[in-house]
Amino acid sequence: MQAGNDIIASVDVTPLLADLNPAQREAVTAGPGPLLVLAGAGSGKTRVLTHRVAWLVGVEGLSPHAILAVTFTNKAAAEMRTRIERMLQHPVSGMWIGTFHGLSHRLLRAHWKEAGLPQGFQILDAEDQHRLIRRVLKGLNLDEGYWPPKQAQWFINGHKEEGRRPQQLPPTADPTQQQLARVYQAYEDTCQRSGVVDFAELLLRAYELLRDNEPLRTHYQGRFRHVLVDEFQDTNRIQYRWLEQFAAAHGNLFVVGDDDQSIYGWRGARVENILRFDRDHPGTRTIRLEQNYRSTGTILKAANHVIAHNSGRLGKELWTAGAEGEPILLYSAYTDLDEARFVVSRIEAWVAQGHPRASTAVLYRSNAQSRVIEEQLIQAGVPYRVYGGLRFFERQEIKDALAYLRLMASRHDDPSFERVCNQPTRGLGTKTLDTLREHAKSGNVSLWESAQKLLAENQLPARAATALKGFLDLIERLANETKGFVLAEQVEHMLSLSGLIEHYKKEKGEKAESRVENLEELISAARGFEHDEADGFDPLAAFLAHAALEAGEGEADAWEDCVQLMSLHSAKGLEFPLVFLTGLEEGLFPHQHSLQEPGRLEEERRLCYVGMTRAREQLVLSHAEVRRLHGQEHYTSPSRFLGEMPDDLIQEVRAAGTVTRSTAPESGAPAAGMRLGGRVRHETFGEGVVLHYEGQGPQARVQVNFESVGTKWLVVGYARLQTL
Ligand code: ATP
Ligand code: MG
Repeated sequence: MQAGNDIIASVDVTPLLADLNPAQREAVTAGPGPLLVLAGAGSGKTRVLTHRVAWLVGVEGLSPHAILAVTFTNKAAAEMRTRIERMLQHPVSGMWIGTFHGLSHRLLRAHWKEAGLPQGFQILDAEDQHRLIRRVLKGLNLDEGYWPPKQAQWFINGHKEEGRRPQQLPPTADPTQQQLARVYQAYEDTCQRSGVVDFAELLLRAYELLRDNEPLRTHYQGRFRHVLVDEFQDTNRIQYRWLEQFAAAHGNLFVVGDDDQSIYGWRGARVENILRFDRDHPGTRTIRLEQNYRSTGTILKAANHVIAHNSGRLGKELWTAGAEGEPILLYSAYTDLDEARFVVSRIEAWVAQGHPRASTAVLYRSNAQSRVIEEQLIQAGVPYRVYGGLRFFERQEIKDALAYLRLMASRHDDPSFERVCNQPTRGLGTKTLDTLREHAKSGNVSLWESAQKLLAENQLPARAATALKGFLDLIERLANETKGFVLAEQVEHMLSLSGLIEHYKKEKGEKAESRVENLEELISAARGFEHDEADGFDPLAAFLAHAALEAGEGEADAWEDCVQLMSLHSAKGLEFPLVFLTGLEEGLFPHQHSLQEPGRLEEERRLCYVGMTRAREQLVLSHAEVRRLHGQEHYTSPSRFLGEMPDDLIQEVRAAGTVTRSTAPESGAPAAGMRLGGRVRHETFGEGVVLHYEGQGPQARVQVNFESVGTKWLVVGYARLQTL
């Protein structure tokens, strides 16, 4: 495309640099060569990166085509593009801005042949991958009880992230490792046969493609004169090498990051990538930014205190010229429900002051925490959006529909074949499927091919053959009939012809109803889907890739003003005027898994630092003394991170909404027969004496001095205390 090679007429430099401090300006205007911006949260790293791109194009006259910019989420990439276009007052569609996965996908689509993939290859998300691994285990006669699919998934992805193929695994005498290696190999064979790639594969395959294909590498190295990376602290080994492939020839690698915000160590990210950057790239210029523009002085100070408890930091102190701001609020809830009610009431008050709902984020350590908060938001009629939960594109009915679409695009997609060949039911029994699988495996062909073969050779019982033929014909028909259709019509046609929407319409209950709605929503999604024609793949392929890669993320830009709910991990890089950090309890945050290993605990602390530094004006912390999670009730103690914040920055909020540090009990007995000094019995803790109580009804709590375990605060509604 020639148009994209436009050199954008030079832009006025003054506004581009006006809102930058001297250190930021130095980074933005730096000459060629490797550059590392190492700086704390909210110091303007992302802003510097965006300005740098605008500078290269607008001032240095580079074509947008010559820029490769990697960000952490699709949302961030879209935002960056918008900002750059605003600064340049010119579209930059030829520019490659995206996530590692998104960009790898783009590369593989363009060079599928060289990468050894079928043209219509499909992407497996984590759930698809899990399903496929289960099938592989079954095929190898491995019992899931002894060989948990999750473990195999972890093993496979871990090695891929380190760049290792099954043949490259280190030799081992350990039978478990040997068996897992066989699973990896069998899984890889199946993927190759079905033309599907998982997330880790996208990256690895793209990396290998560049590494092994000299002309291609030379081409891209010549094209992308500048490579820029945000959130560099969370790159893993394969991502690091991937970047090298692009930047090796010219060394114009511009990376920004913060070692204190490295939170993906558990998934293979290597903070060492930052630490070794200047060793690997001689002549690296390192720029530090120390002024924080995001948070109030109070929030920043508290965050600095928490992170100071970590050892082995590169060490940065952030300061702000802004106001001290409001104290941080702390709410000690009795229960998770109480916590959720508190959060929602605070949000309502905030919105009543005229703030948009979207200026609020509720953050949590574990996705399961969101449900209680969601329920309270629904009750209060407050619109909200959840990032990272069960997203639209991950829902069962949507995945069914996508599987049909995927088969229309690529017949050899085995996971999709498995998913819908008998959904809705068309009389294809497990026996027929087993025959198909066996045949596919022994002939090393896809299920589709094996079905065709078996039919041609008349090897199936009549009923099974009819059912199978019906399915193959359906897919062929869908693919052929919808050829000239616009995307939304393709989807609609598929939904009705496949019988999928009818199938869910016949099911009863609220759930089925919402499934039908979701399927209808898929048509709207297809209608609203825009893709860059210049990418060169057809709308259906682009849509399917979007569904797999951007699952749910795009939803966030919806029309409605709503409260944002997300895990701490998904909050990285974002900022909000009002932030709730919930569930600050030992075992939840820091997470139970991290308590044994010191390295992991430090990662949890960085996560806390990330969470706190998302807040611009007001930070609200909370914990619950009783939490129901995964169907169990836990008595908890406050997170150690709370103890790491200076007392004078924190104001406690009591249940009644009064602000006080005392815990004076209210009058009136919390429950029938319960009185101060009275004796009670608890199922686990045994007998004790009531020392205090607060509130009334099931939410009331009592402090009991137990003979065996000492004093505890309990919630009457949960504790099932027996008065003696
Ligand atoms: P994080 O580590 O959380 O990713 P960051 O270092 O990328 O943070 P940015 O998101 O780029 O920080 O900037 C934080 C906020 O400060 C943004 O609202 C940004 O617009 C603002 N900001 C950054 N630099 C300046 C500046 N020189 N003048 C005014 N505002 C600034
Ligand atoms: Mg940032």
